[in-house]
Amino acid sequence: MIDLDELRWNAVKNRDATAAGIFVYAVTTTGVYCRPGCASRQPLRRNVEFFPGPADAVAVGYRACRRCRPDESTAHDPTVDAVVELCRQLEHSSQDVDLVAFAAEHGYSVRHLRRRFVELVGVTISGYARVARAERVRALLRAKVPVTQAAIDAGYGSSRAFYETGAAQLGMTPRAYRDGGRGVRITFTSLVTPLGTVVAAATERGVCAVRIGANEVELVHEITAEFPNSSFERDDDALVGTALVLAGAVRGEYDATVLPIDVQGTAFQMRVWDVLRKVPLGDTLTYSQVAERIGSPRAVRAVGSACAANPAALVVPCHRIVRRDGSLGGYRWGLDVKDALLDAERPVDEHARQ
Ligand SMILES: [Zn+2]
Repeated sequence: MIDLDELRWNAVKNRDATAAGIFVYAVTTTGVYCRPGCASRQPLRRNVEFFPGPADAVAVGYRACRRCRPDESTAHDPTVDAVVELCRQLEHSSQDVDLVAFAAEHGYSVRHLRRRFVELVGVTISGYARVARAERVRALLRAKVPVTQAAIDAGYGSSRAFYETGAAQLGMTPRAYRDGGRGVRITFTSLVTPLGTVVAAATERGVCAVRIGANEVELVHEITAEFPNSSFERDDDALVGTALVLAGAVRGEYDATVLPIDVQGTAFQMRVWDVLRKVPLGDTLTYSQVAERIGSPRAVRAVGSACAANPAALVVPCHRIVRRDGSLGGYRWGLDVKDALLDAERPVDEHARQ
């Protein structure tokens, strides 16, 4: 996944002077800040901080390098100023920047502006906007803003839009896992919801576990025990899209079946889970209806067991399966949780009727 700092670091590493004016970099070990392209000795990545402009570096105590004079303007090319300003707008605005108006205001054609932007910054304007938006959502999440709010504040409009566009940057590529996850990297994240703590784990291919409970540590242990040979680590940033969808799913706003899954079970379980994934939000099926759909109408009990063995709550919506008499049946994560989920998913007009 690319982020703004990675783009900036590439420019520093390559002594790319075209990026001058777009940002400055400061070296923690020397207390000096430079413009990209400076001919001074290259710092180590871990000692580098980035700032939008000289004033930001000075504000936290850095002094200007005497060699590259980052405090003096050398932007002879006026398009640099426009590009810098556009970068700032893309970084800070949660609205889409009106490019036509922006270009006109600065006296350029949109085409010229686009071309110069790529030359100077190294990515397209929309690419930069995407990265900046993902960056904003991560910053908000680090500040512990609820995920849905963070997505909206960052300019995604909805967390579904975040998932759809942001998730592509999460870098999931098809890959299978077996044998306790040997050689597989599994990452996990957790979120606190009104129904309890939700822990979600994923391979590069999709969600492999979602658990709901009171104690995060226990839920995490439960999952690691199932994948003892995997590399298992927390990565809240990479799973932010998953977390957003699950947060919405708990409130009945999103259907977590939009998330890709990477679960394993017996052939029978996989057939049941597949049917469950097709039950739309707001709808329910009975255990016997599921049994009919998989072509084993007498296997009602086995369907119940497959539901109980579901490794990925919400993503495989086993809470949408109820008894023929309308009672809830069972739920691996507690009947009160199942009841609350079904209530949240019930269409508004049915709420009104009750
Ligand atoms: Zn310098």
